[in-house]
Amino acid sequence: MSNLFRHLPSVDEVLSVLGRIEGISELPRPLVKNLVNEFLDICREEIRAGAFTEAGQLSAKALSPRLTAYVRSKARPHFRRVLNATGVVIHTNLGRSLLAKSAIDAVAEACGHYSNCEFDLSTGKRGSRYSHVEKILCDITGAEAALVVNNNAAAVFIMLETLARGREVIVSRGQLVEIGGSFRIPDVMVKSGARLREVGATNRTHVHDYENAIGDETAALMRVHTSNFRVVGFTKEVSLAEMRVLGDRYGLPVIEDLGSGTLYSLAGEGLLGEPTVQQVVAQGADVVSFSGDKVLGGPQAGVIVGRREYIDRIKKNPINRAVRIDKMTLAALEATLRLYLDMDEARRKVPTLNMITASPEALKSKARRLAEAVRESLGERAEVGMKKGFSRVGGGSFPEYDLPGTMVTVSVRGIPPEALRGALLDTDPPLVARIEDDEFLLDPRTLGSSELKLAAHALKQAVDALTK
Ligand SMILES: *Cc1c(COP(=O)(O)O)cnc(C)c1O
Repeated sequence: MSNLFRHLPSVDEVLSVLGRIEGISELPRPLVKNLVNEFLDICREEIRAGAFTEAGQLSAKALSPRLTAYVRSKARPHFRRVLNATGVVIHTNLGRSLLAKSAIDAVAEACGHYSNCEFDLSTGKRGSRYSHVEKILCDITGAEAALVVNNNAAAVFIMLETLARGREVIVSRGQLVEIGGSFRIPDVMVKSGARLREVGATNRTHVHDYENAIGDETAALMRVHTSNFRVVGFTKEVSLAEMRVLGDRYGLPVIEDLGSGTLYSLAGEGLLGEPTVQQVVAQGADVVSFSGDKVLGGPQAGVIVGRREYIDRIKKNPINRAVRIDKMTLAALEATLRLYLDMDEARRKVPTLNMITASPEALKSKARRLAEAVRESLGERAEVGMKKGFSRVGGGSFPEYDLPGTMVTVSVRGIPPEALRGALLDTDPPLVARIEDDEFLLDPRTLGSSELKLAAHALKQAVDALTK
């Protein structure tokens, strides 16, 4: 065995072989050298484990295919594009919303050039970065003032810190939500310095519960969107209108964390029960916050709209500097918001809205094209079918609504669905699929038209890897 170690090629020998291989010769040499060393260490481990028996297996030429694959896969950028065949439109783990074409262009323009990011072109003096989106947010939502920060978690935090630090905020026990990724309303409240005053029961909260809790210490009444769950059965929530009446009676602001927040009314799509931001503002919420990259379909951001007296105080909070929005985000957000000046245009051009509102016929036709492409790339090896199924909005929106559509089912002889799904995470680009009732599914809703061929090709790569 010790003899075999001596037959391992030297790093230089391996490098000269790799130097001629396309896709590797262009990589930074120090990076490739490190990876070659790692690979040779793995070979030494394997020799120790008795995986090699003859010197010939250890020549640079014999090791070349594995080595090339190793270097290729390790040298790729860590942040990568994936194909989303899960049907979850706002998939937080897969990057949430895709930007509209005009927003992508705006980002490129903003980061490749100098800009009036904080420069007032009418005076030649320092300007405010919020000026770019404040007016359009007010025009669309009907609010008096607006502000944007890094994300909605930051928006909730800074609202509470500004308006309620050291005092009490009254929230229904039915709305003390955890969003995931450790964002919990009670915890954010503690960190903001505001004190949570819980009222009501998990399933029922009444106006008098809020009213009985109001005292000298009360700073605000708060509503939180129960984004990712529903309480059903014997339930009662106090409406925004009722909260407004209380707020007026006791001189308290009503603040609302809308979570996803939508500017486009999805009521027509059968997605009822979700008020638009415009409606929430019109019903008298004083300060409302929502995410930029959930149903709005823009970049990661936290949008705060509401009454000027409160928004101005939030703007002056020094914490604002720590949660401020960057110029690429601002550019993408403004471009996205401009699409909402015409709601029909927003539905067509904002990918998130477009995917949520896709018609059953369009989805069926996309499923047919996907099934065809998969049949073509897998041939005899697979059984490919279509069946009715459901997609999800995701992002903690519309938790109880299934979006009906057509799924593509794939079954490959000798390969369990879980194995196929696992192998697809290692294709180029990786594909994330779904398994339901032990069946492997591709949901075409979240695949772009130009991605159908890529998805079929990924399946071929995965099946090849599993059967070689
Ligand atoms: C998603 C969500 C948040 C957090 O928003 P981010 O933009 O992810 O920071 C806060 N509150 C509610 C109710 C949410 O649904």
